[in-house]
Amino acid sequence: MTNQQKEFLQKMAKEHGTPLFVIDHEIIRNNFKEFREKLPDVQPYFAVKANSNPEIIKTMFNMGSSFDVASIYEFKLVHKHIEGWPDKERQDFIWDKVIYANTIKPAKVLAKLNQYKILVTFDNLEELKKIKQHAPDVGLILRIRVPNTGSMVELSSKFGAHPSEAADLISEAANMGLGVEGISFHVGSQCNNFDNYVQALNLSHNIFKEAELRGIEIGFTDKEGKKKKVLDIGGGFPVKYSPDVKSFAMLAKKLNSEIKRLFGKDNIQVIAEPGRFMVATACTLVTKIIGKAVRDGKTCYYLDDGVYHTFSGQVYDHQLYPLHAFKDGELKVCATFGPTCDAFDTISLADELPEDLQIDDLLYAENIGAYTLASATDFNGFPEARVLNINVEVKEKQPVK
Ligand SMILES: *Cc1c(COP(=O)(O)O)cnc(C)c1O
Repeated sequence: MTNQQKEFLQKMAKEHGTPLFVIDHEIIRNNFKEFREKLPDVQPYFAVKANSNPEIIKTMFNMGSSFDVASIYEFKLVHKHIEGWPDKERQDFIWDKVIYANTIKPAKVLAKLNQYKILVTFDNLEELKKIKQHAPDVGLILRIRVPNTGSMVELSSKFGAHPSEAADLISEAANMGLGVEGISFHVGSQCNNFDNYVQALNLSHNIFKEAELRGIEIGFTDKEGKKKKVLDIGGGFPVKYSPDVKSFAMLAKKLNSEIKRLFGKDNIQVIAEPGRFMVATACTLVTKIIGKAVRDGKTCYYLDDGVYHTFSGQVYDHQLYPLHAFKDGELKVCATFGPTCDAFDTISLADELPEDLQIDDLLYAENIGAYTLASATDFNGFPEARVLNINVEVKEKQPVK
């Protein structure tokens, strides 16, 4: 971080108070552009759960992003942007650019989703029965279980039909008079093992083939009247939190060549659901030292943010967000704690910070945009960090169609 950026953050913290969660929309736009540039044939559906801040959704919308939502609340955050549109355009937007990627949906939610022609994912027979009863008009994507080896956040224990059951489920859907538009998977979040993607693509390819052998047509009818299959490669795109994370460029190259090799001859639409990739690097937290003690010879700093709040990503997302001081000084191993009365509210027992920081001094943590504020609580009466949006484009642009 440059000195100029540091000065800016300190000034903002003074003006707005702490803890302060700064979202730089220029970085979000650059992340989106990078994704589009390196995976030109893959339409990104931003996974809203990574950070559902309304300004972020607005920026993604203005960039022409599509959206992955997993609750009616998230759906409405997106739908807000198209409320005034004519019915036909609104329906086209929902069909083309929104996926409800939660394989388990209560009947009430399904009834609501049925009002919109929307794509939803499923991975089991009971869900198909519910869909048949409550939402026969939605589009279906079968989520399959794929290897999540080496990903920071494992998802395969909870979601995805076993590949050996996939063709049967597609047949069941067809027997019920429901069409399946395509296949989706998720290789696990923060996936640094690119072989997961390769295996998942191969599994998907085989399932398409098996369905074809059974005489079932997967896909939707495109503008030329041909069946077009959807291949949804999910999320997992890793963020360079540390130098050992492999580059996105390398992954993109692998994906492009493997998709071309396996699906080059098919009429296929490839989509993805990046969450973390779009937002993690765009956000910085500024927090204040509110207490200081020495315990067993170690300097302990008590901060106005902790693991029940912005640092909740340490618990749910298994990420660390090292703290840095704005002041110079010899770095020593220090402990950092959150503001609540719970000892679990320990940010780190080994942050490297100067020992001579004082009460009211500020600290910052970078790359803290994904699965952080999104899972923060107001436990113990300490509110979530306030949000400051910077580099927001003021002029409204039409989304790129
Ligand atoms: C969480 C989630 C995502 C986003 O995953 P990232 O690893 O953040 O890219 C995408 N799709 C589904 C279904 C998810 O649950």
